[in-house]
Amino acid sequence: MSVQSSLDQQWARVRGRLKDEVGETAYRSWLKPLTVGTFDGGQIRILVPTRFMRDWIRTHYADRIRALWSGENPGVQSVEIVVAAPTRTEPAVSDAAAAPLADSAGEPVAELVIEPVPASVTGGDERADEMSAPLDPRFTFENFVVGKPNELAFAAARRVAESNAVPFNPLFLYGGVGLGKTHLMHAIAWAIRKKDPSRRVIYLSAEKFMYQFIRALRFKDTMAFKEQFRSVDVLMIDDVQFISGKDSTQEEFFHTFNALVDQNRQVIISADKSPSDLEGMEERLRSRLGWGLVADIHPTTYELRLGILQQKADRIGAKIPIKVLEFLAHKITSNVRELEGSLNRIVAHAELVGRAITLESAQDVLHDLLRASNRRVTIEEIQKKVAEHFNIRLADMSSARRARAVARPRQVAMYLAKQLTQRSLPEIGRKFGDRDHTTVMHAVRKVDELCGTDPAFAEDVELLRRMLEG
Ligand code: ADP
Ligand code: MG
Repeated sequence: MSVQSSLDQQWARVRGRLKDEVGETAYRSWLKPLTVGTFDGGQIRILVPTRFMRDWIRTHYADRIRALWSGENPGVQSVEIVVAAPTRTEPAVSDAAAAPLADSAGEPVAELVIEPVPASVTGGDERADEMSAPLDPRFTFENFVVGKPNELAFAAARRVAESNAVPFNPLFLYGGVGLGKTHLMHAIAWAIRKKDPSRRVIYLSAEKFMYQFIRALRFKDTMAFKEQFRSVDVLMIDDVQFISGKDSTQEEFFHTFNALVDQNRQVIISADKSPSDLEGMEERLRSRLGWGLVADIHPTTYELRLGILQQKADRIGAKIPIKVLEFLAHKITSNVRELEGSLNRIVAHAELVGRAITLESAQDVLHDLLRASNRRVTIEEIQKKVAEHFNIRLADMSSARRARAVARPRQVAMYLAKQLTQRSLPEIGRKFGDRDHTTVMHAVRKVDELCGTDPAFAEDVELLRRMLEG
């Protein structure tokens, strides 16, 4: 059997499972149009017809596809979603450079190269490039919509990007999830690189900073590590709350930070809280972080949300009735990321079914999302319902008992916790008697597997899911 045909068969099975999980409608809208590309170095490429779909599949289904596929074929480690128009004679495009491709809007698709922007756009030395994370090409000042909640942060970011001196050090941006912190940081980096390519700009998450630091420790290479950071012109560290409680990383960060500020290099930090509210941070670091300009981004207002939607609709050239945009701005209030996600979903759906966007179709498409935003299930509720359903004690959700009669329901509860909440695997593990995240992962796989082989079991799980969501 050829490699391609066995891939196609695996894909058929994965799709079958997905269809059972997500239901007929979602399956038809999102999953049916996908085709398998290549399998290379543990990575499966899946081809989608449009960019909207790509983004949507990436955020909503890619993890699931990978999990199911590695169940079929343990060699599969990752799944990449790529825009490509499938050709008739050759259902899978095997050569990325093949044939002129176009997405459905008729624009040429120049994006078979997946990672948006090579870090090598920096004019700096190789080392600095290696350190810096890639920048998202959409995250520019031009694409940032300014309103009351973010005007201070925006103005401060502009100032830092444009001025030749160091106007305030550090610039500390803080605000909730999905409100534009990363966007502003990338925008600063783009602007500086454009204005003066010789300046070395490093952008990275605090998590990555820590990772690099730990690696340097392991390879006894901390001198080189220090050098790399201390020779940059602009250092940006995103989500610095991540290093709360990580003492030696904080220590290193503190020294790097001081060294840069002393040399009058610009430092830009983001976090989800203000410096003084950062728990688990050393006092001297907290106070140091607050020395420059602290700019917070407030939750979005209706006006800002509408502005963002309008801008985004214009940018993608989609015709969306103002009523629909207003509806979204009213309903999706959590953060900008979800707002963009819902817009993408509506546009992608309209493209697929070939109908104009209306208020009704938007409500329909966002049905589950709107319901989810009305109601959030907690892990405790899940445990309670599942325990009741299987007639076991609630305490057994966290107990050490391994008899199947309690272990199986516990696995189901973990599975539902993964599906229905935003909690991470370690967080879920903790709620189940401090179990390891690999135990949760195993539970999720196991339940998946059983759902595929045991229809009665699958029905139980589905029933529980409905009750919890309802
Ligand atoms: P954070 O880092 O604060 O969690 P991001 O910067 O990643 O949030 O923003 C989430 C998404 O919302 C991104 O796609 C970003 O482009 C978009 N976004 C946030 N604020 C704005 C804004 N004011 N104008 C345009 N897009 C925005
Ligand atoms: Mg961010």
